[in-house]
Amino acid sequence: GNLDAWKDFEKSKVYMADLESGLHYLLRVELATHQTLVGEELSTFKDFVTVVAKLFPGRQSVVKLLETLLEWLVSLPLKKIPYDAILDLVNNKMRISEMFLSDQLQWVGCQGTRVGLRGYPCSMWTLFHVLTVQAARRPDALANTGLEENPKAVLQTMRRYIVNFFGCQECGKHFEEMAAESLPQVKSLDEAVLWLWRKHNQVNRRLAGTMSEDPNFPKTQWPSPDLCPTCHEEQDGIHVWNDDKVLVFLKQHYGAANISPKHLR
Ligand code: FAD
Repeated sequence: GNLDAWKDFEKSKVYMADLESGLHYLLRVELATHQTLVGEELSTFKDFVTVVAKLFPGRQSVVKLLETLLEWLVSLPLKKIPYDAILDLVNNKMRISEMFLSDQLQWVGCQGTRVGLRGYPCSMWTLFHVLTVQAARRPDALANTGLEENPKAVLQTMRRYIVNFFGCQECGKHFEEMAAESLPQVKSLDEAVLWLWRKHNQVNRRLAGTMSEDPNFPKTQWPSPDLCPTCHEEQDGIHVWNDDKVLVFLKQHYGAANISPKHLR
């Protein structure tokens, strides 16, 4: 078949193919630019793997890989980890059964009109929205990891990942500024879900009409009224969000039951 063919998808769904493609890109491409992980980079990567191993609502084979990676990182007393050792594990050189992460990029909800648009950055937003929602729905999931009791754990892990590893450095700078300004105010797992939504809309507003925008996917304030009519209200002629409705919508949209396996290979 034609590998470049446009894949049909629904805006009201989240696609596991985007999440797995994002994890593949993160682990095998983005991380590969760091020869060894040490210090802040290593502790950031450990926290990232902890969060995804415990919260990623994925296929058993992928969750098994993330759990194995976590066990290995936790059991190693090393202060430095060569990237090649991580890659060997991700590629399952040990042939642990039922452990697998595809090395194909397959963008569905994140497919762009041309290469260089959407794809990986879109999947990172999607992944962290899914993770904040999972954390709010399953508050005990991070028990005994050192990240429990902290409603900001997922967001702080995202913040540190973006600053230390995300290929787009300007993005890291902007995200860091937003986080420094308003992350301390987040006091609950639900507020964490809403914080990421609000900040994502702030980024959408800033990027509307710039080179980052895919002409077929204009940057808008999300969710649009057709996705969530009750999220939108008017007060004295001014548009306002109904945060309670937005929270309910986010928990549904990014919840495990709304993640489609369509186009997964
Ligand atoms: P994305 O913004 O990637 O969104 C993906 C999907 O999420 C959308 O299709 C929609 O379904 C959903 N969505 C949209 N808005 C929201 C929301 N508010 N809440 C929940 N879900 C939503 N690019 C730059 O050029 N400059 C930057 O400074 C920059 N900073 C970034 C910072 C971070 C942390 C990340 C992850 C990315 C950043 N990017 C930046 C990339 C940029 O935000 C987009 O990811 C990229 O342009 C692709 O856009 P997209 O159309 O796929 O939609």
